[in-house]
Amino acid sequence: MENTFETIREILGSPMWGFAWKILLFAVIVLWVALVFWTLKDARKRIDDAVIVGVAVATSLVFPFIGTLVYTMLRPAEYLADVRERELEMLSMEQDLRSMRVCPECREPAKDDYIVCPKCRRSLRGTCDSCGRPLEHWWKACPYCGDGVAPAGGRYDDDVTEAFSRAARDYDQEATPYS
Ligand SMILES: [Zn+2]
Ligand SMILES: [Zn+2]
Repeated sequence: MENTFETIREILGSPMWGFAWKILLFAVIVLWVALVFWTLKDARKRIDDAVIVGVAVATSLVFPFIGTLVYTMLRPAEYLADVRERELEMLSMEQDLRSMRVCPECREPAKDDYIVCPKCRRSLRGTCDSCGRPLEHWWKACPYCGDGVAPAGGRYDDDVTEAFSRAARDYDQEATPYS
């Protein structure tokens, strides 16, 4: 037993042990500094506020390892870039919805090329005599084949188009105005 203690004391006192200890300490410090930089890099990608990023980095610096661990638990789940991308997607979907008009009768969304409402069969637009494409009531010529369009009150039901434009304006004030 006495012998074993003697051996341990010899190992601890040897220059080899001192060297190994220094290497270990160095590795721990390198890891700590690396984690502080990682926190900075990660926080900048996730947090918009410079002050909060600063607090995250300081925590990681002042409380080695534990600070970084706490940051990883509390950080926002999403990257800022992903959040912005999602917001843009939602905005674009909203604009798509806005650009759609609605049926004056049943308020069913109606696409630009619908001539009747698919839900209530109400007439929404006229069609070109020559090519059969849908035409708005204020168009003076068919943009698809160039054929002249009959004057208002002739071929198109003004009442329907009027009601239709009114409904579309009610649906969204920001929508492209009808002339
Ligand atoms: Zn309808
Ligand atoms: Zn035409």
